[in-house]
Amino acid sequence: MSEPLNVLMVEDSETDAMLIICELRRGGFNPIWQRVQTAQELHTALNSRTWDVIISDYRLPGFNAPMALEIAQQSQKDIPFILVSGTIGEVSAVEMMKAGAHDYLMKDNLNRLPVAVRRELRDAQVRVERKQAQNLLQTLASNIPGIIYSFVHHFNGSVVFEYISLGCLDLLELTPEQILENASLCFEQIHVDDRAGCYIAAKESAQTLKPFSHEWRLVTPSGKLKWVQASARSECRENGDIVWHGVLLDVSDRKHAQELITHNALHDPLTDLPNRTLLVERLELAINRAKRAETYRYAVLFLDLDRFKVINDSLGHLAGDQLLKTIAQKLKTHLRGVDLVARIGGDEFVILLEDISGLEKAIQITERILTDFQTPLILNDSKVVISTSIGIVLGTKDYSQASDLLRDADIAMYRAKAEERSSYKIFDIEMHTQAVKRLTLETDIRKALEREEFVIYYQPIVDILSDVYDEQSQRICQASCREAQLQAYRLIGFEALVRWQHPTCGFILPEQFIPIAEETGLIVQIDRWMFSSACQQIANWKTKFASHFPLKISINLSAQNIRQASLIENIDKTLAQTGLQGDFITLEITESMLIHNISKTIDLLTQLKARKIQISIDDFGSGYSSLNYLHRLPADNLKIDRSFVSQMQKGNRNYQVVSTIIALSNQLELAVVAEGIETPQQLQWLQQLGCKFGQGYLFSKPLSYETAEALLASKSLYLSACDPISSP
Ligand code: C2E
Ligand code: CA
Ligand code: CA
Repeated sequence: MSEPLNVLMVEDSETDAMLIICELRRGGFNPIWQRVQTAQELHTALNSRTWDVIISDYRLPGFNAPMALEIAQQSQKDIPFILVSGTIGEVSAVEMMKAGAHDYLMKDNLNRLPVAVRRELRDAQVRVERKQAQNLLQTLASNIPGIIYSFVHHFNGSVVFEYISLGCLDLLELTPEQILENASLCFEQIHVDDRAGCYIAAKESAQTLKPFSHEWRLVTPSGKLKWVQASARSECRENGDIVWHGVLLDVSDRKHAQELITHNALHDPLTDLPNRTLLVERLELAINRAKRAETYRYAVLFLDLDRFKVINDSLGHLAGDQLLKTIAQKLKTHLRGVDLVARIGGDEFVILLEDISGLEKAIQITERILTDFQTPLILNDSKVVISTSIGIVLGTKDYSQASDLLRDADIAMYRAKAEERSSYKIFDIEMHTQAVKRLTLETDIRKALEREEFVIYYQPIVDILSDVYDEQSQRICQASCREAQLQAYRLIGFEALVRWQHPTCGFILPEQFIPIAEETGLIVQIDRWMFSSACQQIANWKTKFASHFPLKISINLSAQNIRQASLIENIDKTLAQTGLQGDFITLEITESMLIHNISKTIDLLTQLKARKIQISIDDFGSGYSSLNYLHRLPADNLKIDRSFVSQMQKGNRNYQVVSTIIALSNQLELAVVAEGIETPQQLQWLQQLGCKFGQGYLFSKPLSYETAEALLASKSLYLSACDPISSP
């Protein structure tokens, strides 16, 4: 198969033309050809179709090869131009080659022609491909979001760009011409803080001949900050110059996305404050610094908002979120740039004070924060005052773990909260010892529940207004205030109080374990146990001493039970098992806890009332005064807190509080029980004020089951006021 070949011939001799064609055919071509003799004909032929090769005679009448070559070149078609002549001399031939002819042959040596044509065709093809590749590269270069470049770092230190793609307009806000003229315009854009890094990376790459890959920031002439990434290779020329070829890409978007991811991993989404992870990192830095630098001091403040739950429940979660955000802002205003405030839990914040002069400084800042909290915040158009309790730990070189710092700050915070709201406490080692003790206690309480180490004591409650047993006349008559101590009062019931018979520590009173049980939620299990055991024991008494009943049993119920879905179910189960009716039972719930979720509380109390269980509001007056709610609560009794009774003096504040509570309960038709009556004087005043029931050491201390049973068996249900039965 012969190769097709489009041949344009510049030739005046028909015979010569035929000779050429013959030679091509012999060489394996199948030529399609046209012969031209003038400039005009050549033009027309070039424009009429595509040609693979031009074969030109040197001299024609009125035309010649140099002219033909010029015309061919002007057409910009890059067609191989081969000169075939009989007469041309060396000099002219060389000139033609210089001018751009691709080859020349003598007419008497035509057998070389096919080889020459083949070679020129191949070369032309290579030229075409190279051109295409170049075009492609240019298109690519001007389309990538970056720059392709090549520059020379001369031995003498100067830098000159040899090539830079159009991307520089966008990325560097410079034209290629500006850069080619003055390379330093580029390098000046590197962020000052990143220059050293770039230099080191480039030097290393040049020395090791490894590819250069590095990221840095640019500041463009218009002031934009961009992240770029360069990948380049260097090559050393013989004269010592180093040439760099590479790409510079704009990676700002990726960097920003990365920064966002890192930021999110280290910050609390609600307040945008650092989170626990970042806090721990910073604490560890502080710990290490304190070990190295003798004079470096830092402090950790642990803040927990007081009663945040109440606000969250009553105003709604959106308001709660808003409040946390506002507080985050507020806290920041008290800190310097080096300090850090983190949110590490619902309403818990931790502040790291860096490089402080000493504890006084930490206290000063703490006090400022506490004062600031006194200013009401506006939430949902209403003013809200929220306080916080703060635990302070001064960092010492003894700390080696962030978690220890946080633990101690937390312990101190709990101490502050336990004593008084809106206060602070500084951690000391004694607190740690106590915290460990508490932890042990918590474990012990769990065990105690399993091993049934709890027992119930019963403290009599007496009627101090109605009939009394007069010791002198040995008759039952009306209570008289004048000789209160000489009379005996009728037992109307007992309050069941928990005691812990600890296997090694002995007898433990509630105040030593109830607060921890409350904190850990174990109180729910204790109360459940108390309720079912007390009901069981009362049911036994009811069978044994039927004639004494109705005696009432008061059982304490921590408000935490109100949140337990299973409460009513458990109560029903116990009532069914013991066969007791609800009207033998009073549940005492501490006042301050009742208002936390008032509607839920009312709902629950109503369910209890439906079972004829009575409700007593315990420790009345000691917590947040819930007078506003009092009339809404379906309660039957109020218990006046022992602290008022014990500190009553005629006419003093406590006396007035007691008097007001009694008057109020009479109005609301609630029965009043005064707790902690210890002296005949207290009894007398309470009687005068119209208090119906009393409880206290004056009548009896809490009694063991057996002692209480002995009292019931004695048939006299009158307790003398002057001779209280003593018992642990
Ligand atoms: P409370 O409910 O206010 O119980 C009255 C407390 O006052 C009892 O202390 C009682 O022993 C004490 N008391 C009574 N009369 C006098 C007196 O004349 N003088 C003095 N100084 N104290 C008197 P107790 O038994 O130590 O209980 C302390 C608190 O522990 C109770 O206070 C109650 O809040 C809680 N508690 C006791 N048992 C339980 C229980 O089973 N469940 C729950 N949730 N809490 C309980
Ligand atoms: Ca009580
Ligand atoms: Ca009480």
